Amino acid sequence: MPSNLRFHVFRVATIEHARIEVSRMLPEIENLLKLQDADKEIRRLHDEVAELPRRVGAIEQKLAGTKTQLEKAQAAVKGDEAARRKYETAISDLRGKISKYRDQSLDVKTNDQYKALLHEIQFAEKEITANEDKILELMVNADGRDKEVKTAQAQLKAETAEIEKEKEQARQRTAEDEKLLAEWRTKRDGLRAGVREDLLRHYERVSKFRGSGISEVRDQKCMACQVMLRPQTYNEVRSGTQTIVCDSCQRILYFDPSKELADQVPSLHRPKRHHPKIDAPQAWYYRPEFAADGEVFLCLTNVRGQASRRVYDVATGRLLGDILIREGDYRQAFPEDITGSTRLNGNWSEEELDGFGAELPMVILDSLHADLDAARHEAATGSHAKPAVPATPTEQAAS
Ligand SMILES: [Zn+2]
Repeated sequence: MPSNLRFHVFRVATIEHARIEVSRMLPEIENLLKLQDADKEIRRLHDEVAELPRRVGAIEQKLAGTKTQLEKAQAAVKGDEAARRKYETAISDLRGKISKYRDQSLDVKTNDQYKALLHEIQFAEKEITANEDKILELMVNADGRDKEVKTAQAQLKAETAEIEKEKEQARQRTAEDEKLLAEWRTKRDGLRAGVREDLLRHYERVSKFRGSGISEVRDQKCMACQVMLRPQTYNEVRSGTQTIVCDSCQRILYFDPSKELADQVPSLHRPKRHHPKIDAPQAWYYRPEFAADGEVFLCLTNVRGQASRRVYDVATGRLLGDILIREGDYRQAFPEDITGSTRLNGNWSEEELDGFGAELPMVILDSLHADLDAARHEAATGSHAKPAVPATPTEQAAS
């Protein structure tokens, strides 16, 4: 980092936290952070090694499903073949019967006997037709059955090849992971040696229950459990002179001065906000709630002894409702709109406002948003210098 930035940050820290000289990190904390990284990597590798057989198992299960499907298709083909043989046997039996009836018909004495035989023959012929229909149906179905078997066979072949590949990959991956695990474990043992015994025990106990044993502190909060720290605890963590534990989650707390640098730089370079004049003939306001419209920008202007009010949607810049005109100065005409609103910078002529029509141009909307953002930042940090005119971000109607 450039040395002038470092100077800035530490200067800010000195002003804001007068008791603290220079933020730093305990070497033990640095070791714990490295240890935490090692622990995380070990856990990841461990989980990966454990996951690989599960993945293979899932593919094997799919493979078993395909096998069952193939067996079912093959059984259906066999079933059809057996049925066909049954129908063919029935047909040949019926044909035998018919030929027997015909022989008998040569010897009959009466017309009734002849009729009875003829009836039997006709009945047997009908049966033959019914069996033939069933065989035909099976033949039509056979194509579909064949296709089912072939599809299942092809699928099984592809899946078997895939599982072999997956198994091989899993085997290689496991070997690599095991090697890395051994390396990380050695590294971890080395890092452990660099941490005090009782601190290490505390870290490991909390890690076991919460998944991590050390937590960064930022904006006075424990980043792991999001609980605010007491100011004294916060200062102690920042000072980096002793190890402090989060009251809420028991994790060991640390403060990273380089993160503060990232937080501070934008505010250091934020340009000073221009303050609107209290007696300007036009005033823009932001209101978080306005009737049923939610967040709005209000534009109040004095024109020829009258006051006008325009309401715009904050998100879209769309003009909401009609332009309201009242007698007198806008401060007297619309006091209820000013109270509790945030005053913003903005000044456009009445003609320009009319020219905007039903929607604020994007550039105007952007400038209002930027000023609102600046006003909020100012209110949050209290960073504005005392202006000659007492213009506070939140104005009161009485002022
Ligand atoms: Zn915590």
